Amino acid sequence: MTCLSEEQLMAYFSFELSDADNQQVEKHLAQCPACHEKAALIEQLTLEWQHPTKEAPVDFSKQIMRRTRAPLPRRKKKKLYYQLSFAALAALLFLQFNLPMQIIQFTDQTVNAVHSTSKKFNQVVQHKKNGFQKNMEERKDGDFKK
Ligand SMILES: [Zn+2]
Repeated sequence: MTCLSEEQLMAYFSFELSDADNQQVEKHLAQCPACHEKAALIEQLTLEWQHPTKEAPVDFSKQIMRRTRAPLPRRKKKKLYYQLSFAALAALLFLQFNLPMQIIQFTDQTVNAVHSTSKKFNQVVQHKKNGFQKNMEERKDGDFKK
């Protein structure tokens, strides 16, 4: 199966797919980290839309325009790509379901949360790995001293 589109994932989280399609989506998500990450973001966005926790600031559109015009350092390009994709996704959903635009703001936090969570997870895994290796080395050393 090819990678899932945003539309498919949104339909999935909105319970609009048939049982067979649901199974295909779940099967793909289980084996594709890229789609899994995209799905996690879309799921959070969908939840936030259904139960908004934030109000848009009064000068929201001004803030967006300012950020759109600001020059960007190179390393922020990937982040911008995410922001733009999800801003586009948000716009699409807004048109489709007539939902509030303030959700765009939420994408920043969602992307950051996902990134820092996976970073932390990697750190924990690395830490455990190091601990395990150290443990094994200490055991080996101990055996030699005996
Ligand atoms: Zn995929």
